[in-house]
Amino acid sequence: MSKEITPKSQDFSQWYLDVVLKTELADYGPVKGCMIIRPYGYALWENMQADMDRRFKETGHVNAYFPLFIPKSFLEKEKEHVEGFSPEVAWVTIGGGEELEEPLAIRPTSEAMICTMYAKWVRSWRDLPILINQWCNVVRWEKVTRPFLRTTEFLWQEGHTLHATEEEAEAETLQMLEVYRWFYEEVMAVPVVKGRKSESEKFAGANKTYSVEALMSDGKALQGATSHNLGQNFAIAYDIEFLDQNQQRARPWSTSWGASTRMIGGLIMTHGDDAGLVLPPRIAPYQIVIVPIPPRKGDWNEAVLPACRDTQAALRGASLRVHLDDRDTQQPGFKYADWEMRGVPLRVEIGPKDIEKQQCVMVRRDTREKEFVPILTLPTRARQVLDAMQRDMLERARRFLADNTTRVSTYDQFKEVMAGKRGFLVAGWCRDAACEAAIKEETKATMRGVPLEAEPSPGAFLRCGQPSPGEVYFAQAY
Ligand SMILES: [Zn+2]
Repeated sequence: MSKEITPKSQDFSQWYLDVVLKTELADYGPVKGCMIIRPYGYALWENMQADMDRRFKETGHVNAYFPLFIPKSFLEKEKEHVEGFSPEVAWVTIGGGEELEEPLAIRPTSEAMICTMYAKWVRSWRDLPILINQWCNVVRWEKVTRPFLRTTEFLWQEGHTLHATEEEAEAETLQMLEVYRWFYEEVMAVPVVKGRKSESEKFAGANKTYSVEALMSDGKALQGATSHNLGQNFAIAYDIEFLDQNQQRARPWSTSWGASTRMIGGLIMTHGDDAGLVLPPRIAPYQIVIVPIPPRKGDWNEAVLPACRDTQAALRGASLRVHLDDRDTQQPGFKYADWEMRGVPLRVEIGPKDIEKQQCVMVRRDTREKEFVPILTLPTRARQVLDAMQRDMLERARRFLADNTTRVSTYDQFKEVMAGKRGFLVAGWCRDAACEAAIKEETKATMRGVPLEAEPSPGAFLRCGQPSPGEVYFAQAY
């Protein structure tokens, strides 16, 4: 069987690739690290975009679009920013058959471009805040790539805001971090830890970087989205000024925040099982698939398809995303396995006997629970089960996160957990960069974040014995 997926327990990374390729979420492109997002994967992305975009707009943001090419001199204005990104930048040096006077970077992120425009647009305190988001692609040259998780070109959104005060910029940074947490937990059913990054892991040019961190089912962490307080660094580098209410020249404060198609990788690795994808109902491209069971004799066009089409219409009428699999080239058994692999939350089977009894069989993807449902009440019942499935998926993932978060009391224990089941390790930390580098060398774990919602708990770090102001999260990460 070409459709077979390697069991998760046997080889996690092969399992991941099998799921991505065989469910037709994505395929490899001709250039290394550039993937094709296929219609099923793109439908998932569109549903994710729609929920996030709605939330961005509810929090006062508007969308715009900025150019793909960034002149080299623009990128070089913020020193830390260019140093951080230059190893990953792709350059265009020839255009229209001629050598360009100035090389153009293909955007790795758009601070340089957007801040240049903000310098032109902002004059007075009345122009602030600026709350702009853009949905686009970016390129960061990668040596080791994996579909969705690390690709040279990827799709994302990047928000770029300007504020009159430092307090407003910090509030914005935290507000958007909370939007990401909401999206991960309420929409993707993926629990996350909100935290602040260390100096070595923060965004190039930022004062503070916050992230949401999720735990994948192989015990490795995934940085889910980031939100940066850029202080006045970019306002100074790009010479953005405004006249405040006292007619004094002032520098604004800026933020940026982003989430990408990497989220799809996180979704697969949180919920998937040996049979393939398990998709949360809120973003599944199809929430329900109807599989008609052909009659033993006679034409299914007369016997079952009309009832299936009526059912599809009734479910659509209840605002459910539903697909009728009326391929006459495949048997029902094949279709069951196929849609199970693709993670469709509910499967509805309708055959001649069911039609006689005015019922159908409904099967839930995550638990495989089966029930008979009267056709008339199917839209209501399907909605109930989809809601329950959404809740249960989050609950299961929360239990996994709790079961795989360990508090350790010695560094030996730290190393032991990292060599074994992994997961999140909660421990004090001295905040020393050299110590952080040594931990990575010795255990492959990195500091994922200083949790925002934790009581301060001063102590000592168990590796070096130096004082620690509070506990942090460590994990091996994607
Ligand atoms: Zn230390």
